[in-house]
Amino acid sequence: MDFDFTPQEEAFRAEVRDFIEENLPMNGTLQEIQAWQKAVREKRWVGFSWPESVGGGGGGIAQQVILKDEMAKAHAPPLGTCFMGLAWVGPALTEYGTDEQKQAFIPDILDGKVQWCTGYSEPDSGSDLASLKCRCVRDGDEYIVNGQKIWTSIAMWSQWIILLVRTSGDGSKHDGITCLLVPMDSPGITVRPIKNMSGGAIFAEVFFDDVKVPVSNRLGDEGQGWKVTVSALAHERSSISEVHGLQRSLADLKDLARRCKKNGRPAAEDPGLRARIARADARIEAMRLNGMRYLTAQLRGEKLGSETSVNKLHRAELEVELGELALEIQGSRGPLAMGADVVPDDGKWQRMALSWPEVVIGGGTPNIQRNIIAERILGLPKDL
Ligand SMILES: Cc1cc2nc3c(=O)[nH]c(=O)nc-3n(C[C@H](O)[C@H](O)[C@H](O)COP(=O)(O)OP(=O)(O)OC[C@H]3O[C@@H](n4cnc5c(N)ncnc54)[C@H](O)[C@@H]3O)c2cc1C
Repeated sequence: MDFDFTPQEEAFRAEVRDFIEENLPMNGTLQEIQAWQKAVREKRWVGFSWPESVGGGGGGIAQQVILKDEMAKAHAPPLGTCFMGLAWVGPALTEYGTDEQKQAFIPDILDGKVQWCTGYSEPDSGSDLASLKCRCVRDGDEYIVNGQKIWTSIAMWSQWIILLVRTSGDGSKHDGITCLLVPMDSPGITVRPIKNMSGGAIFAEVFFDDVKVPVSNRLGDEGQGWKVTVSALAHERSSISEVHGLQRSLADLKDLARRCKKNGRPAAEDPGLRARIARADARIEAMRLNGMRYLTAQLRGEKLGSETSVNKLHRAELEVELGELALEIQGSRGPLAMGADVVPDDGKWQRMALSWPEVVIGGGTPNIQRNIIAERILGLPKDL
């Protein structure tokens, strides 16, 4: 295992740092953020890992890690604004899209001109996504879609949805799934926002009632939807940038513990809290070392698989633990509603304590990660 970057990679790091120093928005104004987005796009750092032929940056794995790493350390705004488009729609289009589809969709994703949402989960198909039932029947040059999706983040603000539908009930459940790219203003689509526990509504139920989708909007072959979805998620996954986010949160948490009092003394002096903070610190370091291991494997050209579940599990549990620790450190002020003026740091910790579902459930629940680790890494039997 070699943790050193090459001189060329270090030169790239220096370039990124210089860019950040020159361009990082200072006051977070709209103009500053727009200027930042324009500058990172000109640098081809939006879609940095995508091939240059589709307008991406053609960046290698180590460079991707350096870029994310430096951006996370500087608390920089995101690289690009079409979040799901950049996370998986673009990578899926790059691998499975026709030339027409690439030309039609990728530039708008890179330029942040559209938002995409993701129509995978259904009321009875979440963890077991391959059991999805949203029905899709071909009728000449069109598909007709009927069914329901749920937990569709930002559905109400998106122009497009990447949709998984069932085109066949024969064979294995994975084989009958097809991926479609559907305009959200198609007749027959109804979006009903769902309120979450922190009071906002960022996701929705989406209903499809005889929605017509041109066959030319199918991504990949009919029945290939599962493969399209899985492969789009398999790009850089070292989790190094998540580690920086957690290190930053822990540093802020230690500072909070020095400022808040428990039994008349700084909370940082409480042995129980100190032990939990130390345990979180050690866990983040374990996550960082695992991340370096994944990176080394990727640089050797190896594909990552189930091993990334270890860091997903660490991250999910750490996000919950840091939120809970922060509320305990604040003592009786902890449970107060965010925004109340007696809550430290503008209610940032209250928000963190309530926002864990995004990280914990979003990419597969901890139970599912544990199943993967048990069965695929430790080789334990499915049924004991
Ligand atoms: C903030 C947020 C944003 C989301 N955004 C989107 C989105 O944009 N698009 C989208 O399609 N989906 C989205 N989701 C949905 C998310 O993918 C699902 O919630 C997730 O896959 C879990 O599915 P579920 O909610 O149906 O829970 P279930 O799968 O019903 O699980 C319920 C409980 O049972 C446990 N469980 C399930 N199966 C097993 C098993 N085999 N072994 C052990 N335990 C098990 C789970 O761990 C969980 O605790 C979002 C979710 C959240 C929280």
